[in-house]
Amino acid sequence: MKETLQIAIDGPAGAGKSSVAKALAKRLGCIYLDTGAMYRAVTWFAMQEQVSLEDSAAMEALLEKIQLEFKEEPGGQHLYCNGVDITEAIRTTEISANVSAVAMLPSVREAMVAQQQKIAADCDVLMDGRDIGTTVLPDARYKFFLTASLEERARRRCLELQQKGIAVDLEQMKRDIALRDEKDSKRAVSPLVQAADAERIDTSDMTLEEVVEKLFAKIAK
Ligand code: C5P
Repeated sequence: MKETLQIAIDGPAGAGKSSVAKALAKRLGCIYLDTGAMYRAVTWFAMQEQVSLEDSAAMEALLEKIQLEFKEEPGGQHLYCNGVDITEAIRTTEISANVSAVAMLPSVREAMVAQQQKIAADCDVLMDGRDIGTTVLPDARYKFFLTASLEERARRRCLELQQKGIAVDLEQMKRDIALRDEKDSKRAVSPLVQAADAERIDTSDMTLEEVVEKLFAKIAK
């Protein structure tokens, strides 16, 4: 089997993982896989199909019908679910509020992790998520755990949404993020936890460029 470069970036919601991961992958010339988008896609599809998220048997059956595809397009990476572009649709507060319930289902995790590992087997890849360093790529050469204060993470998420013209309340965002982190950290299968061999980086007082530079320097070294 060909040896590939694997980089894992994990951390709680809003820690800046995906912005850092996108920029870093571009700089390194490797594929970026947004694993959170995959769980959001399953959530979106279940809601489309009006499947109860608590019904694990129905959710398992749903997995048979879902085909996810990432495509590089001029404006950036897009995610398609059964041919439908869902890049924007999976970023709503409704999906954010429901995704943790879907991501805790063992059948969903098994299917997503298998797809993620298949991608990593063939090419150099940088993945961001919650369980990359612990479960998906336990042998990744580089593992980072990005964190930031709850205040700062909520502020960044609000800014992101405001730039898209969506009005959000900072205090509500703080509550939403804290709740999602709690659910992600307490689930039985592959909870959000720092891998023992991951380097923890607090990005609260760092710009995106500074974080990218720091990670790049560690990898280049
Ligand atoms: O990264 P993002 O915030 O888009 O992730 C959405 C949700 O997907 C997380 O809150 C978590 O429930 C789930 N997730 C996961 N494992 C991953 C990536 C995301 O359980 N590797």
